[in-house]
Amino acid sequence: MALLLTADDLDGIGADAQAARDPRPFAVELVAAVEGGRLADPDDAGYALSLAAEARELAGDHEEALALSARAATRGEGTVDATWLQAIHAERLLRLGREDEGMAALAALRPLLHRDVDAVGPIVEALTETGRAELAEQWVTAAMLTAMEREDRATDGSEEQLEVAAVVDELVMTRRDVRAGLGRVPDEYDTLADDLGAAPDLVFFPEAAFTRLLAAQPEAAGELGRDWDAHRAIVEGELQAADAEGEVLEVEVATPELLAAMLSDDDAAGDAATAPEPGPRLPWPPGRNDPCWCGSRAKYKKCCLPRGRQRAEDAGAPEPAAPQPAERPEPVEPEATPAPSAAPKSSERVIQRRPGPRSRAR
Ligand SMILES: [Zn+2]
Repeated sequence: MALLLTADDLDGIGADAQAARDPRPFAVELVAAVEGGRLADPDDAGYALSLAAEARELAGDHEEALALSARAATRGEGTVDATWLQAIHAERLLRLGREDEGMAALAALRPLLHRDVDAVGPIVEALTETGRAELAEQWVTAAMLTAMEREDRATDGSEEQLEVAAVVDELVMTRRDVRAGLGRVPDEYDTLADDLGAAPDLVFFPEAAFTRLLAAQPEAAGELGRDWDAHRAIVEGELQAADAEGEVLEVEVATPELLAAMLSDDDAAGDAATAPEPGPRLPWPPGRNDPCWCGSRAKYKKCCLPRGRQRAEDAGAPEPAAPQPAERPEPVEPEATPAPSAAPKSSERVIQRRPGPRSRAR
């Protein structure tokens, strides 16, 4: 059996096609791989066909390119690439002069704007890349207002609320970028976007600060951890999980000013007008034998490194050779606060994790 092509292999073929004088043979190779069942992951079929479409378009074979990207969109149905593939097909239709079909395809995707965080980028790009930035601004603004209404109606801390909060963040920031491209004067939502963009993914509270904060606001235990050990474990676990996925997490170390703001008024820390200066970024990871980042003076390998591993395991992150109990026993001690996994509103400047870019880079 011939070698199976991974997503990286497909990327390589796509890059070769871009650089080639004649990209056609690469398109043929990609289509043959799909038809011959030679993809390591069958879910990559849509992606492979979209690369073939790109190669055909590059070669000037516009009808073939359109047929291939339509096929790519169909093959991608039910995969993580579905919306992205449909959006790039729509973009190709618009680019190649099939105005009505392209706009119909985008209009069909439009309802996803206020529901699916991964749909925002591809749909907006299809519009802006084809000279429709003003339309993009209209669509994104309407979707943002709809999503904000949904966020207001959702129950605090519910799954739905977290999802829609992520969509709101994405829409606010995308809208800011689209409007900047149009030369608009920043409005209040653009200011909010700037704050979101500058907000750290996580805030780490050193022990003394953590103790004071929790004494004053016991309910913060739900987000920050029920004690300082749990808090350190959350921060380290999130850093490890992000690192394993090749992402970089920004962790801000809480300053006395941030703590004071949080102690004086829970909402003040999230308010741009009164928010204190951001604290320093946490350098991570230290060397295994270096002092731990948490300030305990213990070696990293004896302190938060194992703490975070345990946390990552508990959260279901992949950890080689770790025996997983069928059901994780809940802590037996009586707790009035929710589990540390409960996440806050996206607008709160406490512990937050932005959704990673799941759609493919083009
Ligand atoms: Zn530590």
